[in-house]
Amino acid sequence: MSIFTKIISGEIPSYKVAENNSFIAFLDINPNAKGHTLVVPKKEENKIFDLSKVDYNKLMEFTYDVARAIEKAVPCQRVGMSVIGLEVPHVHIHLIPINTMVDMQFTNKIKLSNSQFISLAEKIASFYI
Ligand code: 5GP
Repeated sequence: MSIFTKIISGEIPSYKVAENNSFIAFLDINPNAKGHTLVVPKKEENKIFDLSKVDYNKLMEFTYDVARAIEKAVPCQRVGMSVIGLEVPHVHIHLIPINTMVDMQFTNKIKLSNSQFISLAEKIASFYI
């Protein structure tokens, strides 16, 4: 069972920003920038291109709504999107509010307090339709 499946089931807590029957979005615990969000299908699948075309398109539609909420909630030049990484074998899209190209590299990380995570998640959630 992946760590994200444990988050989806509520076994592990997360700072949730959006959810529907099939997908969830929550803040990355080790963010590149403020508002760095992970978008995850609830059905555990390893790789994004293993998804059916239908499920992939539904994931993109959900991601679109989350990205627009992030853009409204977090001051940034734009929201970057990346499918990258080998750490968690469960499909996830990184949505990252960026101001410099470095924000899309996974080398520079920022530290946020619990209350900062909570207020960021609440703000993004408030803009999610
Ligand atoms: P990747 O597979 O893309 O390299 O990394 C997975 C991402 O998930 C990383 O950015 C990491 O910080 C994030 N991550 C790993 N474990 C957890 C967790 O327990 N909670 C949250 N919110 N994010 C996590």
